[in-house]
Amino acid sequence: MTKAIIAGAGIAGTAAALALHRLGWDVTIHEAREESADERGAFLTVAVNGIAALRTLGIDPSSALAHGYPTPTVVLRNGADRELSRLPLGGPTADGLVTTTIRRADLYLALRKAVLDAGVPIHYASRVTTLDAGADLIVGADGLNSQVRRRIDGARPRYLGLLNAGGFTARPIEADLDRTPGLVHMTFGRRCFFGWSAAPDGSVWWFANPPSRTPHSGPPPADWREQLIDLLAADEGPAAAIVRATPEALGPWNTYDLPRVRTWRSGNAVLIGDAAHAASPSSGQGASMALEDAVVLGRALASSSDIERGLAAYEEIRRPRVQRVVRAGRRNGSGKAAGPVGAAIRNFMMPPMMRMLYRNGNPQSWILDHRV
Ligand SMILES: Cc1cc2nc3c(=O)[nH]c(=O)nc-3n(C[C@H](O)[C@H](O)[C@H](O)COP(=O)(O)OP(=O)(O)OC[C@H]3O[C@@H](n4cnc5c(N)ncnc54)[C@H](O)[C@@H]3O)c2cc1C
Repeated sequence: MTKAIIAGAGIAGTAAALALHRLGWDVTIHEAREESADERGAFLTVAVNGIAALRTLGIDPSSALAHGYPTPTVVLRNGADRELSRLPLGGPTADGLVTTTIRRADLYLALRKAVLDAGVPIHYASRVTTLDAGADLIVGADGLNSQVRRRIDGARPRYLGLLNAGGFTARPIEADLDRTPGLVHMTFGRRCFFGWSAAPDGSVWWFANPPSRTPHSGPPPADWREQLIDLLAADEGPAAAIVRATPEALGPWNTYDLPRVRTWRSGNAVLIGDAAHAASPSSGQGASMALEDAVVLGRALASSSDIERGLAAYEEIRRPRVQRVVRAGRRNGSGKAAGPVGAAIRNFMMPPMMRMLYRNGNPQSWILDHRV
């Protein structure tokens, strides 16, 4: 039986495990963290293209994403709370898929359960550090700072000048909120980009992207929540009140991407997910790209005469698409920290520009309508 070892029980690793298991392979996952470790980042969005990939892997989206909620539309505003644009994020599609926001931990749990149900073991607190692991295939699904990648390619993550914070409200919010289901609200604030959506249980899930020239290191600042409230108080709209209603502000995390990893594979080892092509969180596509990778990897291996040819086919199919997504994510993120002149131009130009761009359909359809 062909034996595969997967580094990482994140989104890419668990999805790849299911894809390879479906080929009848003997698959084992090694996860560096303890089973009980909290997951990085508060919540994320799985777009319709990623949900379609989930379904292709044999996972029922309605159960895997049961703890999430639909967020098919984003409303963009400026710091004066004026609406600039309202854009589609995906779905509902004819076959019932809709872009969904879910706590990161809930998505990981659902994927890990699917893996264990399939009989694939996950070894926790077990780190893969070598390509010489005694398997026919090594899959580096070990994320942004991949150790498997270090054995294959010298690429380093690029810091994008933004920090990331997030949280969930637990108290009533002293501001009027538009709680229309399905909407994500994003504000190009005067000092900080802010996004939020109203969850069905009445809480508000939010994130903030304070600009910072240098990445954060060390433990979170003791006054992290107060720093955010101070930055957000420069704007009209509910942002500061939402953070005030949150007991703990999570983060700061640094925002990185991987502009280009020249080598994705070496012999019988291959990179997938963030290890190969991390996109800025502003792309909203990191999780979906990881899921798509896994489907394509499984198919390429199934239809190739040997593993190396299968890996080459996987890379050939995936590379152009994911690099385009990484570039798009960087562009989305760069607008979040505009200075006063850039912000004034954006506030003036965005409404007519978006109307023009969306006149003949959704310019994001190459991302969202894609089916692997
Ligand atoms: C703040 C934030 C917000 C985001 N928001 C979104 C969003 O809205 N939408 C979206 O699609 N994406 C978002 N992303 C990106 C998304 O989280 C990633 O693209 C996605 O998690 C990538 O999955 P992955 O499996 O490749 O990596 P990860 O999910 O990072 O998983 C990698 C796993 O490998 C493990 N590991 C590391 N080293 C080793 C080793 N040597 N051996 C074994 N295991 C190892 C890690 O512990 C981890 O569990 C966001 C990211 C951040 C940081």
